[in-house]
Amino acid sequence: MLSELQIADFRAALLEWFDRHQRDLPWRQTTDPYAIWVSEIMLQQTRVTAVIPYYERFLNRFPTHSALAAAPEADVLAHWAGLGYYYRARNLQSAAKQMQSDGGFPTSYEAIRALPGVGEYTAAAVASIAFQLPHASVDGNVLRVLSRVCEDDTDIGSGSGRRHFGNLAEAMLDRSRPGVFNQAMMELGATICLPTNPQCLVCPVSAGCRARIAGRQNDLPVNRKPAKTVRINRTVFWIEQHDRVLLWQRPASSRLMPGFWELPERLQLPAALPGRKMGAFRHAITFHDYRFEVAEAFLPNEPFPKEPFRNELGTCQWVPLAELERLPASTILKKARRVVMKHLTKEESKRAVAVAGIARNT
Ligand code: SF4
Repeated sequence: MLSELQIADFRAALLEWFDRHQRDLPWRQTTDPYAIWVSEIMLQQTRVTAVIPYYERFLNRFPTHSALAAAPEADVLAHWAGLGYYYRARNLQSAAKQMQSDGGFPTSYEAIRALPGVGEYTAAAVASIAFQLPHASVDGNVLRVLSRVCEDDTDIGSGSGRRHFGNLAEAMLDRSRPGVFNQAMMELGATICLPTNPQCLVCPVSAGCRARIAGRQNDLPVNRKPAKTVRINRTVFWIEQHDRVLLWQRPASSRLMPGFWELPERLQLPAALPGRKMGAFRHAITFHDYRFEVAEAFLPNEPFPKEPFRNELGTCQWVPLAELERLPASTILKKARRVVMKHLTKEESKRAVAVAGIARNT
């Protein structure tokens, strides 16, 4: 633990650097708690550069919690499509409805923490940035900075370790500017104190950083539970008939992306007969690395019923290709569709070359 004097020096150096060099991000141009909250939810598990266009589009369509509460769920999900982890969008809307009935955005840390989808980190970030409440927000970036600055070998992967660093963060917090301090800590971790190759030469707090002084910056933080990547192969079926494709809709009760449309797999259509392979793509979710193969497929019992085919897994239904753009489609469906389009374009050009060859020879 640093001394009071060292902590004061650390705060001063960090805040001076942040005031001069912070990135120009759209959610830093507002004091609206609703907009700040939306940005924090979007930034959970998603990179800053990826969030910016979604944030602007979302705020443009749903500028207030009332607008979000009143919107059809499919509209909210469509504005979230591509960001992944769709439970976040559903939580946002259910929290907006709660605000609507409670009379506005909550103003205390405890009430913000009680919103659906808001954990300790997000509650502290919103409370400090929007309301200047003295709560330290601790994410992976902050854990890394604290561990290095204090040369602290406590395991950040353990519950007790995170509690330890939470207490440390509270002790380091600048209570006169808690929102700015929290953002500065995250900014330092995201842009200078990087997981590998920390940029100590340009770091504003290097003079007091114990890990740098000891030459241990690359040894910290200690994390004894590194997540292992799990590789999984899956096949999705592209079944097309008369300009319609057979899709599967997740049931409303689904924990993952309820109401979203997917391409069916063997689980939904056990009797489907796979044909030629149209292509493949990868899709990563946390520590799962999926490799999806897109296969053209056929149904043995033609014609497939015109009415939707329902079972406990959801609904399979023919959807006109022209309507695909308007549906809330999963990222997997969108990626698979791009694979199919590429495959069909290749096939078309092969056919054109063959036809041209026949024409030349006749
Ligand atoms: S001096 Fe290096 S290790 Fe220490 S906080 Fe700065 S970037 Fe991180």
